[in-house]
Amino acid sequence: MAALKIGFIGLGNMGGPMAANLAKAGHEVAGYDVAGTTAKGVSTADSIAAAVTGADVVITMLPNGSILRQVAAEAIGQMRAGALFIDCSTVDVESARNTSEAAENAGLLAVDAPVSGGVGGAEGGTLTFMAGGSESAFAAAEPLFDIMGQKAVHCGDAGAGQAAKICNNMILGATMIATCEAFALADKLGLDRQRMFDVVSTSSGYSWSMNAYCPAPGVGLKSPADNGYKPGFAAELMLKDLGLSQQAAELVDADTPMGARALEIYKTFVEDEDGKGRDFSAMLPRLAGRGRSD
Ligand code: NAD
Repeated sequence: MAALKIGFIGLGNMGGPMAANLAKAGHEVAGYDVAGTTAKGVSTADSIAAAVTGADVVITMLPNGSILRQVAAEAIGQMRAGALFIDCSTVDVESARNTSEAAENAGLLAVDAPVSGGVGGAEGGTLTFMAGGSESAFAAAEPLFDIMGQKAVHCGDAGAGQAAKICNNMILGATMIATCEAFALADKLGLDRQRMFDVVSTSSGYSWSMNAYCPAPGVGLKSPADNGYKPGFAAELMLKDLGLSQQAAELVDADTPMGARALEIYKTFVEDEDGKGRDFSAMLPRLAGRGRSD
């Protein structure tokens, strides 16, 4: 494809390597981050306006929905009609819909496209994108998803990408807790962890948490448990995504009892215990070290 002029806003742990991969693929990328962060091959803009003026595409990778709304309000007004606005941050569904609507009202194409795959996926260009927006917006964004990732799914209209992301991560949070509490129970019943894995990973209790990301050190595929529970996927990011899932559930009056309980458990783990800075699978040592009344 012809080289595009891309404005990239938010060059943090994820945005930095994503912007660098776009530059490496031959696009002309101007980056802006309020913290002054830079990325390889990316020219540094000193304001949002400088990054987005004249751009064919603007990509944002920001911490949350309220920052996205602020940045989008500034960026959208400076972008040329027909340009493409892609938000890759994980935000609440309402902020995603609101941002897409504002972009479309200004004559832009818009896609909400949160990712999974973490920092390793951002660096390696192997992210999965879950996208919401019109067919034409998705088609325009797809070649860029192919550079930054290995898979992009068009999930539906504006906000559908965020909906897919938080539903997936609500399942992940709940199944990780279930897997960890089962290991903790197995320990107390005198069942060897390897035997427990051998049975569950090939039985009806299997899940991604058990089979691909086993929370027990030395058991199953290599995972953060084998590296002292260094993230990986940090417990505080799981807490953020569970919070978004419950915010969305309230918005549409969905009954999500497991998601609600998972949120409470990760909140306590991160805010009152030793979960901050640890992988979300460190739920296993937390549960294994306690009794029913702790
Ligand atoms: P990060 O905190 O490392 O990066 C966010 C960047 O945005 C920071 O560099 C910050 O300075 C910048 N920023 C904040 N306000 C700004 C503003 N007004 N203008 C310009 N820049 C601004 O976070 P991250 O880990 O890169 O995550 C980014 C997003 O991706 C989040 O929404 C997160 O939930 C999501 N995500 C992260 C991971 C992961 O493993 N880190 C995985 C999937 C999704």
